Amino acid sequence: MNDIKKFNYTDILGWSVSRYNRFLNCKRQYFYEYYAKFDKDMPIEKIQFLKSLTFKALETGNITHDIIKDMLKRYQVSTKPINKDKFFKYSLNMTEKRCSSKTFFEHYYNGDIILTSEIYAKVKNILENFLNSPRFAWFEKNATTTSSEWIIEPDGFGETRINNLKAFCKVDFLFPIADKIYIIDWKTGKVDEKKHSRQLIGYSTWANYHFGKSAIDIVPVIVYLYPQYNELSVKINDYSITEFKNSLADETKDMYEYLADIEKNVPKDKQEFKMTGNTFLCKYCNYKEICFENKL
Ligand code: SF4
Repeated sequence: MNDIKKFNYTDILGWSVSRYNRFLNCKRQYFYEYYAKFDKDMPIEKIQFLKSLTFKALETGNITHDIIKDMLKRYQVSTKPINKDKFFKYSLNMTEKRCSSKTFFEHYYNGDIILTSEIYAKVKNILENFLNSPRFAWFEKNATTTSSEWIIEPDGFGETRINNLKAFCKVDFLFPIADKIYIIDWKTGKVDEKKHSRQLIGYSTWANYHFGKSAIDIVPVIVYLYPQYNELSVKINDYSITEFKNSLADETKDMYEYLADIEKNVPKDKQEFKMTGNTFLCKYCNYKEICFENKL
């Protein structure tokens, strides 16, 4: 189970859910996000700084992911139940450390005061939802026996090949029980059945490629942790995997259209990357400061 295939580095772009969503939302934002070094108008440091801005909701999700990851790694060392007092103290420390090392979008653009206590209250709520869930009880009973085979947010970005194209599908947590592989992805934001179902098919395709498991033996589950615990599981079959592979090939080709050199992943001129007309997206865009200054 720990034999994830490795690949030599190449420049060619790799598809991912987040990359393609960015591409769909706004081509200019996509340019800033992935091709900052090719911008002739702005210093790369400025673009990278804006890229690093985080949002309260996003950071809450990131912190929660990391705490759950650390908790699972602790279960790999010992199957003893966790000490909740220590666990929440650790969670508070991590929240404080992370909040003090980040610049928040809400502060940078709106001058809002970011209260760590407010972020931690939500982190704690999310973690309590998880610890009190039937899935956690099930997991403690069934999954810990195979802990040496768990894959917890594998290093790198989950590089894979789908129809010989580079792609990235990074699973949060994968573990075997009997002849099945379970894939769990934690969410702290809104339920989006269509988008998240597709993500589950992507993870299943990843597991199919790396471990040779057929669709019927893969059980992918999206776990929603806020505002209350909920799960989304999708029945995957060979047809859904084939369909996913085909759409990924189309989407990769769409992104290739914006490149002057596909092999080296060199973009066409920035002007080819049109700005969206969706003002709601612009309102919450990290790059709005430079984008509106440089309307080209
Ligand atoms: S401010 Fe609007 S147009 Fe500019 S990059 Fe952001 S989303 Fe795109």
